Amino acid sequence: MGYAVKEIYFTLQGEGAHSGRPAVFCRFTGCNLWSGRHRDRSKAVCPFCDTDFVGTDGPGGGRFDTAEQLAQAVAAVWSRHVRTDTQRFVVCTGGEPLLQLDQPAVRALHDHGFTVAVETNGTILPPEDIDWICVSPKAHADLVVRRGDELKLVYPQAGVSPEDFVDLPFQHFFLQPLDGTDLAENLRGAIRYCLRHPPWRLSIQMHKMLGFHENATITDAYRVAFVPWPGSNQDHDYDPSGRYLYQTQDANAACNIDAVQRTQVAAGITSP
Ligand code: SF4
Repeated sequence: MGYAVKEIYFTLQGEGAHSGRPAVFCRFTGCNLWSGRHRDRSKAVCPFCDTDFVGTDGPGGGRFDTAEQLAQAVAAVWSRHVRTDTQRFVVCTGGEPLLQLDQPAVRALHDHGFTVAVETNGTILPPEDIDWICVSPKAHADLVVRRGDELKLVYPQAGVSPEDFVDLPFQHFFLQPLDGTDLAENLRGAIRYCLRHPPWRLSIQMHKMLGFHENATITDAYRVAFVPWPGSNQDHDYDPSGRYLYQTQDANAACNIDAVQRTQVAAGITSP
């Protein structure tokens, strides 16, 4: 049947239990809860998506006729950045990856030495043998994947609450504040909830806060590792590319710094 993939790239996982782990992200094209077109957003089951999963035009994206070709593309991205073949980790995401990720693809990725994770909205049953299943339930969408490794709920979401899921057999439960103009308030709400309701834990989108934008390369990741913290001494000794990002990529830097500041304020680390 072939596979349509928006992009394949190397970065650090920014969310959930594997936060900070190097991974190849394989973003499959398409989702069953939104067309991805802005004109359809008001009719979408999932109205708050901030991911571009339309088409095959991202870095490393394309159409792959066979599972082996797909796995080879994923392995090539890993090998370009990592010398060791141990700890190979691929995160299959989307869109909704389970529209396409099937048993042959999982097997081919395993054959190339990958631990295979999937990030799904939980509306489609996964093939067997996926190593890590992260489910992010969406209001008004039937949840059929009711067990797994990690349940990550975007919070708040009208129509669902954490209590609806906490008894399901998952190892980890994360609340992830809904991004957007109300991020600070949503973060405060998520913190309040997690403080009072173990086992829920806070998941922040580290890649957004630190600037691991979705098609970041390892070079980008390295640069942002050295982006000066707001208010810090910018006369640092690090790779000057860090300063370059901070000083000249205005839109990115402003966005990232703003996100950091908003998060700090919301968490009570600094005052506005
Ligand atoms: S289910 Fe995920 S990929 Fe699909 S529209 Fe919602 S947030 Fe986006």
